[in-house]
Amino acid sequence: MNKKLIEEFSALLGKERVLSETEELLCYSYDATSKGFMPDVVVFPLNAEEISKIVKLCLKYDTPVVGRGSGSGFSGGSLPLKGGVVVSFTKMNRILELDEENMFVTVEPGIINADLKSYLAGKGYFYPPDPASYEFSTIGGNVAECSGGPSAVKYGVTKDYVAALEVITGEGEIINTGSKTVKNVSGYNLTQLLTGSEGTLCLFSKITLKILSKPETNSLILVSFGDIDKGFKAAIRLLKLRNRPSMLEFMDKSSIESVKSYFKSDIIKIEGKFLFIIEADGSQADVDKSIGEYEKILNEFSPIFIFASGKDEDKKVIMDARKAISPSLRKYGDLKINNDIAVPVNKIPQMLSFLEETSRKYEIPVINFGHFGDGNIHVNIMLEKNNAGMVQNGEKAKYEILKKTVELGGSLSGEHGIGLEKKEFMKLKYGDYYMNILKNIKNVFDPQNIINPGKIF
Ligand SMILES: Cc1cc2nc3c(=O)[nH]c(=O)nc-3n(C[C@H](O)[C@H](O)[C@H](O)COP(=O)(O)OP(=O)(O)OC[C@H]3O[C@@H](n4cnc5c(N)ncnc54)[C@H](O)[C@@H]3O)c2cc1C
Repeated sequence: MNKKLIEEFSALLGKERVLSETEELLCYSYDATSKGFMPDVVVFPLNAEEISKIVKLCLKYDTPVVGRGSGSGFSGGSLPLKGGVVVSFTKMNRILELDEENMFVTVEPGIINADLKSYLAGKGYFYPPDPASYEFSTIGGNVAECSGGPSAVKYGVTKDYVAALEVITGEGEIINTGSKTVKNVSGYNLTQLLTGSEGTLCLFSKITLKILSKPETNSLILVSFGDIDKGFKAAIRLLKLRNRPSMLEFMDKSSIESVKSYFKSDIIKIEGKFLFIIEADGSQADVDKSIGEYEKILNEFSPIFIFASGKDEDKKVIMDARKAISPSLRKYGDLKINNDIAVPVNKIPQMLSFLEETSRKYEIPVINFGHFGDGNIHVNIMLEKNNAGMVQNGEKAKYEILKKTVELGGSLSGEHGIGLEKKEFMKLKYGDYYMNILKNIKNVFDPQNIINPGKIF
C-alpha cells in the first residue's frame, strides 16, 4: 500500500481511526464464507463528508474501497478481494431521527439491526426485516444485501422498508435518493436499485426506513405431515388468507431427520416428512382468531402432530427446534456448501424432490429447510473437507441445484447475494445483453471501478 495514502488518511481522520498493522487488519479480512483477503488499511469515518474524501483519495491513488458492516455476509461482499481500503461503519451507528408523524426512522448504516428493533420496540414501533443474523448484522449490510428473514412472508424484506438513502458514489459525490413518502415516481427509482447492490455501486452514509406499529403479541403452531403433498396444500391455503401467517418456516424430511436425533423435547415431536412452524401476530384477539383458523385448515389435511401455544416457554421450545438445525448438521461433515436459492412457492415440492435425488446421486447429505412463503430454501450440502472426491461431488451438486433453480424460474440467491460465491453462476440465468446492462449501471456509479471490484461480475 502506498504509504502516502495512509498518511493522507491519518491527516484526514486522525491516527486512531486508521489501522494498518497486520494483526489489526486480520480482523477485517474475513466474513461468514470462511474465505480471507487482507485489506491494506482500515478506516473509520464518522459522516458522509469524510467518506467522500476517503473515496476521492482512493480515486487519486487508484485503490479499491470496500464497505464493511459486521462482516457476517455469506457471499464475500465485505472481503477486499483486491486489497485496498476497508471502510468500517462501526463508528457510524447512531439513530438520527425518529419521525413519529410520518412513521420513518433515519439511521447511520453501522447500527445493529437488533439495536434498532429494541429502540423502536421501546417506543411502540416495529422494523420487521429479521435476518437470522439480526443480533449482529448492521442495517448498512442489510440494505446492501437486501436481507430478509422469516417475517418476509407477511412483511416483506429490507427493500420494502428503505425509503431514502444518502450515498457516496464511486466518484466521491454525495447524493440523496428517495423521500419520506410512500409515493415517489420522480425519475428512476435509485433507492431500490441501490438496495441489494451488494456494496458495489456506492457507500451508504444515512438510511431512512419505514416503520410500523408494533404487534401486541404472537402465538406459534408446530405442525408436521406424513407426506409432502398434504403439507404443501395446507401451507398454500394459509398463504391465501387475508390474515396470512407472519412466519411460515418449513423443514423437509432431511432436516427433520437431522434435528430428530439431536433435539429432545417433552412438548413437541419432530417427525414426519414436512414440518412447519407458523406464527400469527397482532392484537390478542386477532392472534387467537388467526390461530383458530390456521388450526382448522391444517387439521383438514390430517397432520401427524400439531401443537399451538402463545406461552413464552412453549414458543422458546418450538423456536429452539428451528435453531437446532444448523448445529445438528455438524454430524454430517466438517465442510458445508450453503446455498440460499429461491423458487416460486408452487415449485417447492419439485425442488425438494430434486434435492433428494441429487443427494442420492452423489451419495452426499443434502439437508434443506427454509421460508415457505417466499420459496427461499436453505440447501446445505454436507462434505468432509479432506475427502477430495466428495468435495468435487459437492461442487457438481451445487451446479446442478443452481441450474434446476433457474429452470424452475427461481433466483440463484434469495438472501445472501452473489458476491464472490455465485458470480460464475450468473450466466446460468442471464445472457450477455443483460449482464452488460448491469456492468453499465456499475460504470455510471463507479467509472473507475474502485468500489468493491471483483464482485457479482
Ligand atoms: C449465522 C448467520 C445467519 C444469517 N442469516 C441471514 C438471514 O436469515 N437472512 C439474510 O438475508 N442474511 C443472513 N445472513 C447473512 C448476513 O448476515 C447478511 O447478509 C447481513 O445483511 C450482512 O450484514 P453485515 O453488517 O454483516 O454486512 P457485511 O457482511 O459487513 O457486508 C455485506 C455487504 O454489505 C456491504 N456494506 C456494508 N455496509 C455498507 C455501507 N454502509 N454502504 C455500502 N455497502 C455496505 C459490504 O460491502 C458487503 O458487500 C446470515 C449470516 C450469518 C453469519
